[in-house]
Amino acid sequence: MPTTVRGKCVAAMLFALITALAPAGAGEAQEAGSADGRAKNVIIFIGDGMGTSQRDLIRYATVGTEGQLAMDAMPYAGRSGTSPLDPEAFVTDSAAGGTAIASGVKTFNGAVGIDAEENPVPTVLERAERAGKATGLVSNSQITDATPASFGSHVADRDEQSEIARQYLEESKPEVILGGGEDYWYPEDNPGAHPDEPEVDPEEKSAGTEGNLVRKARDLGYEYATDAAELRAAGGPRLLGLFANEEMFQQNPEGEGAVYDPQVALSEMTQKAIDTLSQDPDGFLLMVEEEGIDEMAHQSNAELVIEAGRQLDEAVEVGKSFAESDAETLVIVAADHETGSLAIEDTNEIQSDPAYPNESGEGRTSEDGPLRVANSDKKFLVDWTTANHTAEDVPVTAMGPGGENLVGVYENTHIHDAMLDALFGSSPPSVSAPATSTTSASASSTASASADAQRMPDTGGPSVGPWLVVLAGALGGLGILVSRRVLRGDG
Ligand SMILES: [Zn+2]
Repeated sequence: MPTTVRGKCVAAMLFALITALAPAGAGEAQEAGSADGRAKNVIIFIGDGMGTSQRDLIRYATVGTEGQLAMDAMPYAGRSGTSPLDPEAFVTDSAAGGTAIASGVKTFNGAVGIDAEENPVPTVLERAERAGKATGLVSNSQITDATPASFGSHVADRDEQSEIARQYLEESKPEVILGGGEDYWYPEDNPGAHPDEPEVDPEEKSAGTEGNLVRKARDLGYEYATDAAELRAAGGPRLLGLFANEEMFQQNPEGEGAVYDPQVALSEMTQKAIDTLSQDPDGFLLMVEEEGIDEMAHQSNAELVIEAGRQLDEAVEVGKSFAESDAETLVIVAADHETGSLAIEDTNEIQSDPAYPNESGEGRTSEDGPLRVANSDKKFLVDWTTANHTAEDVPVTAMGPGGENLVGVYENTHIHDAMLDALFGSSPPSVSAPATSTTSASASSTASASADAQRMPDTGGPSVGPWLVVLAGALGGLGILVSRRVLRGDG
């Protein structure tokens, strides 16, 4: 029946065409409020470690096969590659991944806000600040952890968390800073509001290297909150909230004290950040990170990945609600990499055919479940492949002006480019030297900035002599990296 087949083909092609055109129409509708079709505001959510399977897992367990997550109910969808520019590693970490998203530059694992030659690179947050917009960082990890750090600091080693906090206050200056990691804001023996060596994790204690940064923040005009009630009561325009010593949850092994119950929900921090930042008539840029998906996947703990994902989706709902009231807002839900390479499988009784053997794993990476599909009698298993990151692409969804540029398959650096294009078109504000990006730089902050500029490229090991750079350059692009890495003597 060739006619019928041809008819079906035409119908399929028409459907494909309509599907392809539909998002553009939706985009135009959303852009109606913007004279130039650009975004005044950007809210980017980063689900750390959230690959396609994690999004599926969260969906099956929380809304079922008939339901849709807020993060999936968006008109634009694409897929991002995640590989780092690292002489040794093939799979990215959150620092290289975050830097690609925040600055549009590939770099090596562990590096924050610097390129592969360790030059500081301007971030989209710094450019937004330069353009007069308000900016914010929200995470339920340490707020100085790699992902938020990539938007607001420049260090060669992600572990320099106090230096990252100092750079937030003195250089990148986001108006809203909300998350965990109080230990890096107070020096040793000054516990701050969250006690040193608590029973839940005796290893947590203040370990700041840059003095009392909470006092410094207050001096700079930040209102400081340490719990949900204080956050609710706090006013802007500058807000610092530190709600835990380290992460706002406990990433212990399954059954050994793993807890995901942040004392301030990600959605509440997101709402407060939006309420505060949206007061700025020039618009705002907000980065919101959910960290539990990655850390619970490192522990092969499907139940708590689901809980972390549920809370991320609630935060996304908050961002979407704002975008529905302000059409000049681009909302993006992305990820820096996948963690755990989980497989969602039928239960053992059903997948018992010996012709299709199933490696269920042992110990930490053994299967979790059976878990119930929401609104269904069916169940599934979660089978973990690794307790580490993988090289899988990760999904990206978006709504609002500029979201159409996130349709397709691209590298993670493109997410940066799309944000910049949405906010500024072809003329983004230049931030030539990120460490000296303030227009009102005083003599002392300029001095400290230039000290940073000197400190940043040198990570403590012997520096590469100019003659060696020339030699390595002659040997090829990667030669520089390899030489530097060998000389530094780190992994
Ligand atoms: Zn991780």
